[in-house]
Amino acid sequence: MLVVFIGPPGAGKGTQAKRLREHLAVPHISTGELMRNVESSQTDLGNQVGAFLRRGELVPDDLAIEIVEQRIGQSDCENGCLFDGFPRTVAQAIQFDDCLTNKEKSLNLALALSVTRPELMSRLSARGRRDDNPETIANRLDVYDSHTLPLLAYYEQRGILANVDGTGSEDEVFERIKQVIDRDLTETS
Ligand code: AMP
Repeated sequence: MLVVFIGPPGAGKGTQAKRLREHLAVPHISTGELMRNVESSQTDLGNQVGAFLRRGELVPDDLAIEIVEQRIGQSDCENGCLFDGFPRTVAQAIQFDDCLTNKEKSLNLALALSVTRPELMSRLSARGRRDDNPETIANRLDVYDSHTLPLLAYYEQRGILANVDGTGSEDEVFERIKQVIDRDLTETS
């Protein structure tokens, strides 16, 4: 099963994706984590990527796609995987679809987690990652609204979007996600 998780920073994508990884027994791919690995490689590319991360900006689409293509080419992704933080723009989604079509695969589900902005601000301020300072947080939320939100319409049109309320405890949110996933598995089996 191929699933993408969409949601603003702080919506709980990472936490929920890790739980879903156990449930579905497929790898969890966080592009943010992959980017942070590239950053820490201390190469020219790492320095370039680090500059985007520190400003709370998206790295260029071509680079994001390249990193993802490399990752899904690995053997553990043969039976599917779970993306967290990718795609983040409609251009990435279109290129991703093309890439999957070439591999005779297609996306099963786009899960969109929604949480209100004040709740996101307070969750992110409490988290304390290097790009979780107030200025970068505000920028990342703005970038989400302008670049990533349009993805919802894209996947809705394709008939694979499921909206999930991301408020409440981790367990409550996971139960909602499981309901969507299990319904989808029943429909497609
Ligand atoms: P995240 O851990 O998902 O919040 O991502 C942290 C940072 O990595 C983002 O603010 C972006 O700078 C970068 N990033 C992660 N995924 C992508 C992507 N799909 N496209 C572009 N930039 C990304």
